[in-house]
Amino acid sequence: MEPQEIGTLEANLRRVRERIRAACERAGRSEDEVRLIAVTKYTTVEVIRALIELGVEDIGESRVQDTLRKRAELGGSPARWHLIGHLQRNKVGKALEAYDLIHSVDSVRLGEELDRRAEHPVEVLVQVNVSGEASKSGLPSEGLSELLEQAASWRNVRVLGLMTIAPQLGQAGYEDPEDLRPVFAELRELMSSANRSGSFADQLVHLSMGMTQDFEVAIEEGATLVRVGSALLEGLESTARTAN
Ligand SMILES: *Cc1c(COP(=O)(O)O)cnc(C)c1O
Repeated sequence: MEPQEIGTLEANLRRVRERIRAACERAGRSEDEVRLIAVTKYTTVEVIRALIELGVEDIGESRVQDTLRKRAELGGSPARWHLIGHLQRNKVGKALEAYDLIHSVDSVRLGEELDRRAEHPVEVLVQVNVSGEASKSGLPSEGLSELLEQAASWRNVRVLGLMTIAPQLGQAGYEDPEDLRPVFAELRELMSSANRSGSFADQLVHLSMGMTQDFEVAIEEGATLVRVGSALLEGLESTARTAN
C-alpha cells in the first residue's frame, strides 16, 4: 500500500475507535467491553496486513474460501478471525480450520454438525433474525430456547452469545439508526432471558451487533462485538466495493 493510503486507513481507524469510545461513554460502559472487528470481506490482503499493523486484533470475513486464501497469503497473523457470513453445512470442516469465532450458527443442525466435526473446543454465537425480515438469515427468536437446550449437550461447541444483523437503513420504517434501537434491545433481552434460564445460566456473554450504519446505537444497547467494514475503508482506492 502507498503511504498515503495507509494514512487514510489509519485516520479511518482512529475515527471509528473514537466513535466507539464516545458511544461507550454515553452508555456508561467501559471501552474494554467492546471489541472492534474489522470487516475485510470487501478488501485485499494488503489492507488486512496494514490493519493488523495498525493494531487491529480481530478480522471479520464472510466466506470460508476467501478467508482461507487470505490467511494463506498473509502467512500467519496474530489476529483472531471471525466468520460473520452464513455457513453452509458442507463448509463446516473448512470453517473449523479458518476461524476463532463463528457468529452465524442459525440452526440446531448446523450446531450439531460443527460439534460432530470439531476435534477441539469451538466457540460460536447464535445468529438471531430479530427483525423477522424474510430476507435475513438467522434463527427466528422463537427457536432460540430450543437451540440452547440442544446446545447444552454439545461436547465441543460452546455458545458464547448472540449475533444479529439489523435491517438496512433506508428501507421502509428504518430511516435513522435510532429506529434500529429496538432490534438491538431485543437481542440483549433474549440473551438476558437465556442467562436466567436452566442449562444456560449465565453462560452467554457476547452480543455481536452493529455495523457501519448503526454501531453506536448497538453499543449503547450492549454490543460487545461490533463488525465494521465500510467506515474503515472509506477513501481507499484498493478497495473493491463488491461485497462477497
Ligand atoms: C459486511 C458485513 C458487515 C460490515 O458492514 P459495513 O456496513 O461495511 O460496516 C457487518 N456484519 C455483517 C454480517 C456483514 O456481512
